[in-house]
Amino acid sequence: MSNIATSLKLNERFNQELPADPIEINSRRQVEKSAFSYATPIKTANPKLVSSSKEVADLIGLSQKDLESEDFLQIITGNKILEGTKPFAMCYGGHQFGNWAGQLGDGRAINLTEVEHNGKTWALQLKGAGPTPYSRTADGLAVLRSSIREYLCSEAMYHLGVPTTRALSLALTGDEVLRDMMYNGNSAYEKGAIVCRVAPSFIRFGNFEIFASRRDTETLKQLVDYTIKHHYAHLGEPSKETYIAFLAEVAERTMKMIVHWQRVGFVHGVMNTDNLSILGLTIDFGPYGWLEGYDHGWTPNTTDRHQKRYRYENQPDIGLWNLLKLANALYPLIEEAAPLEAILHKYKADYEPTYHQMMKEKLGLTGDFEDDKKLVEQLEEVLHLTETDMTIFFRNLAHFTPETDIENAIDKDFLNPVLAAFYKPEELTGNILNHWKTWFKNYANRLKANELSKEDRKAMMDKANPKYVLRNYMAQVAIDAADNGDFTLVNTFLEMLRNPYAEQPEMEKWFAKRPEWARNKVGCSMLSCSS
Ligand code: AMP
Ligand code: MG
Repeated sequence: MSNIATSLKLNERFNQELPADPIEINSRRQVEKSAFSYATPIKTANPKLVSSSKEVADLIGLSQKDLESEDFLQIITGNKILEGTKPFAMCYGGHQFGNWAGQLGDGRAINLTEVEHNGKTWALQLKGAGPTPYSRTADGLAVLRSSIREYLCSEAMYHLGVPTTRALSLALTGDEVLRDMMYNGNSAYEKGAIVCRVAPSFIRFGNFEIFASRRDTETLKQLVDYTIKHHYAHLGEPSKETYIAFLAEVAERTMKMIVHWQRVGFVHGVMNTDNLSILGLTIDFGPYGWLEGYDHGWTPNTTDRHQKRYRYENQPDIGLWNLLKLANALYPLIEEAAPLEAILHKYKADYEPTYHQMMKEKLGLTGDFEDDKKLVEQLEEVLHLTETDMTIFFRNLAHFTPETDIENAIDKDFLNPVLAAFYKPEELTGNILNHWKTWFKNYANRLKANELSKEDRKAMMDKANPKYVLRNYMAQVAIDAADNGDFTLVNTFLEMLRNPYAEQPEMEKWFAKRPEWARNKVGCSMLSCSS
């Protein structure tokens, strides 16, 4: 019989080194001067494992046998607490949609423990395991639909090369959860589920903001020193200089993470400061979405449909806005504005060239030419003229040959390599077609100046342009099947998304445009925060 307790090497640090909420009653309240509150997961009625990730198990030292054990199921659904551990919920605040929201905290996440394996420490966290002091008016639970979305997307992101938290398991609780999915008064019972998430840490910008907002510099300093000691140790001992270097590195990581989001067409959907990781990891997969048509103004989050604060093109600026809030939170430890401002300026200055370099990789361009920036900008414009699938366009662009005679091409023949990306190919006439012609002529000329062979260019582009992403409708198809008890697609997608850059002929049907039925369907292009 497998015994998880012997497989895992506990290394609890957060709840050992930081101040705990002295009140251990699980009642909803304001928690002061504490980094966390102890909270025990509630028991689940009839837990059932839906899927687990062998890869993430490997990271933390669990075997396949462990994953299949009853012990594992009981632990990852909160029914059993590992001996020697004391689960807890973190206290944090946050700016939501641009406004300070006060205390938020882990309202439906409970940290089980931290474990060490191969010299690394990992925090294990259950999402949807019951209420905590931070649950406010909600129930602390999660439903199957949002749990599938988190489970699949976090693993997809990892394999796309995007910094992210991971997911170890997805389980049904056997309990029913009441949700008003679109916030329109139509509540219904849904299947309850729990994802066990894994990351070096789940600390967010908001963990620092809450102490700063309460002028609790003492606990703020404890948390900053803790974070540096365990996650930014290379920066050195705590000092004013170290704190500045800390913010600089968080800014750099955040910027790089967002450039990756832009590269793969990921829209987070709720970039509130409580949803930004201090480690620069993508965290909290809620109403996120993937660009289908390349539309810079798109956001999947219906809660944000008027303001579109978190639309694709705004993500880099929101990253900066959130860093400004973090800088404000750290200010009491630094008491000097200039170095903080310099970091924020650097973020802005660095974003441009990093984004540009990323786009050049998507286009397979080597070398440095004055007009490259223009070529990228022109492409961004042309891509908006008629709905064009981002993933298919960039992936297939590698098939374009610069020798193509665009000038004398018949009709839109020169677009054949990327034709599958257009949602309305009939719109490729007149002005729109002319714009494409001009762009491809410029692109062809530029490619002739490349030092790469066509094959090498394709290899370069295939690394920047994924073939398989978790399209919005795909997650929904997997959810609909799972609601009916069929989890095959969840596992198929998990496997497929482990190799997003590889050709997988048996998966070709998922390298396709969003079907028309999914265009305005709830769950496919419209998601609320309700989960
Ligand atoms: P989000 O923007 O979805 O990451 O959540 C914002 C805040 O609401 C966080 O403090 C969450 O813990 C809390 N929250 C969201 N859903 C629930 C829920 N079902 N029960 C309790 N708290 C929740
Ligand atoms: Mg959150």
